[in-house]
Amino acid sequence: MKTNTNIVGKEELIKRIIESIKADKDLSKQLKKEDWQRFLASARILVRAAEEHFLRIIKEALNRGEEIVIKDFFTIKRQIPKAKGSKRCDKHEKEIETFRRANKGKGIQAYAKSETFKKLTREIRKCSNCKSKKQQIAKTVKPTTRITLRTSKNFWTLTKKPTGKGK
Ligand SMILES: [Zn+2]
Repeated sequence: MKTNTNIVGKEELIKRIIESIKADKDLSKQLKKEDWQRFLASARILVRAAEEHFLRIIKEALNRGEEIVIKDFFTIKRQIPKAKGSKRCDKHEKEIETFRRANKGKGIQAYAKSETFKKLTREIRKCSNCKSKKQQIAKTVKPTTRITLRTSKNFWTLTKKPTGKGK
């Protein structure tokens, strides 16, 4: 089935990158003329850098469970499943549960206004048992193989004219 969406694969992407680099006057000024020409002549070096290094390094980072944050572009990360079990120590889990039961049906605003709840939250924040429980829980959580990509603010505006001659 045909759709109207263009698919940009690795080769097309690299081709566009090379065109973009070639059109970059500022970049060309940073090299001596002959060096710049030699650089452009060896497009295969660019292809190799993009393909074997840039893309591979991104893949490896994601494999390791790292998060890729590229300011003004996007953030790519593996999805992390919700931790099972409580992040609080037994004592505080019980206290929170008791508070919840006593305030059943009341909204979040009632929680925020409650002195008892505020005090409890402060206590939990300082509790070393809660802290170690939280770390323990975090260790059991492994990133999934699903990826999320979140775009940065202003991502959906073209800042530069796309390279190549338009259609
Ligand atoms: Zn605690």
